[in-house]
Amino acid sequence: MGLSEFALIDHFFRPLGANRDDVVIGVGDDAAVLAVAADRQLAVAVDTLVAGVHFPLDTSPGDIGYKCLAVNLSDLAAMGAEPAWATLALTLPAADEAWLAAFAQGWADLARRYNVALVGGDTTRGPLTVSVQVMGFVPGGGAVTRGGARPGDDIYASGTLGDGYGGLRCILDGSRDDEHSRYLRQRLHRPMPRIELGLALRGIATAMIDVSDGLAADLGHIAEQSGCGARIELDQLPVSTALVRLASDFAQRPELPGLEQATAAQVCALVGGDDYELCFTAPPGQAAAIEAQSCRVGCPVTRIGSVVEGAGLSARTAGGEIVPLTASGYRHF
Ligand code: ADP
Ligand code: MG
Repeated sequence: MGLSEFALIDHFFRPLGANRDDVVIGVGDDAAVLAVAADRQLAVAVDTLVAGVHFPLDTSPGDIGYKCLAVNLSDLAAMGAEPAWATLALTLPAADEAWLAAFAQGWADLARRYNVALVGGDTTRGPLTVSVQVMGFVPGGGAVTRGGARPGDDIYASGTLGDGYGGLRCILDGSRDDEHSRYLRQRLHRPMPRIELGLALRGIATAMIDVSDGLAADLGHIAEQSGCGARIELDQLPVSTALVRLASDFAQRPELPGLEQATAAQVCALVGGDDYELCFTAPPGQAAAIEAQSCRVGCPVTRIGSVVEGAGLSARTAGGEIVPLTASGYRHF
């Protein structure tokens, strides 16, 4: 201890303000002042992480610092927005300098990569809660919403799905420390927001969302807001080797009524949360453009289904049977 609130802000948070010309006033005044170019629109998102709810209580401060920014950048990615600024409201039980240094380092690991400037925030005492707001740019009218999917569009997912839930299971189930469980825990604690892919899909994707509450729940939002249905090809779901190896041994798996044919890894991919991959739709004519962009940005994407007439979600099993899906994802209330 020893540092006052103001010295602490100066020491740990002021250095996280990146060198950006568009920050007129950053940390240290009553409010930040930021310059937005006339031809751009501002995309703004906020997400709060509560200890014990959004991350296990023993999560390292470096991972918390990384992840609180990552989950927010993932929301910008899903709009096709380019990140610029962030604010941080931090509630801490104590001004623990080692904790703050590690937290700031985890934040910086990701913020530097995307040149995100921390421009302000608030610091209070209480149960550990981290609330981050991010702001980024889209060209006027260029944001990719959840509402533009049309019947006949293909549905895609980036990366692999279910790893976040797998990582959580590895932690909750106990002492495994093999290569696969390390991989899954890394995916839980240090998800990679798909910023470059989101930017590359502007003008290509008809609808997009980031998978934070589980594919079924989040694709459900695209379907609902687009006024269509979505059909997932069960055997096309991208799952990691690590998840396939470990999922059948998990002490619990998410509920998925009616889909007894699905493998344990597929169930995690459909229902598990915390993946921060992108799910998006596009007309079949864009397949080659999507493949080219995926290669260019170095992020794999997989076609996982189709947008259909009607409403709600269904899955087609390897045997060709079509099963309605009712998974609702994590709900706080
Ligand atoms: P005020 O009382 O006017 O809200 P504060 O004492 O809360 O001012 O904050 C002083 C300055 O430090 C402000 O510029 C604020 O944005 C910044 N700040 C406070 N906490 C943080 C934080 N956790 N991260 C970044 N900036 C912070
Ligand atoms: Mg304040």
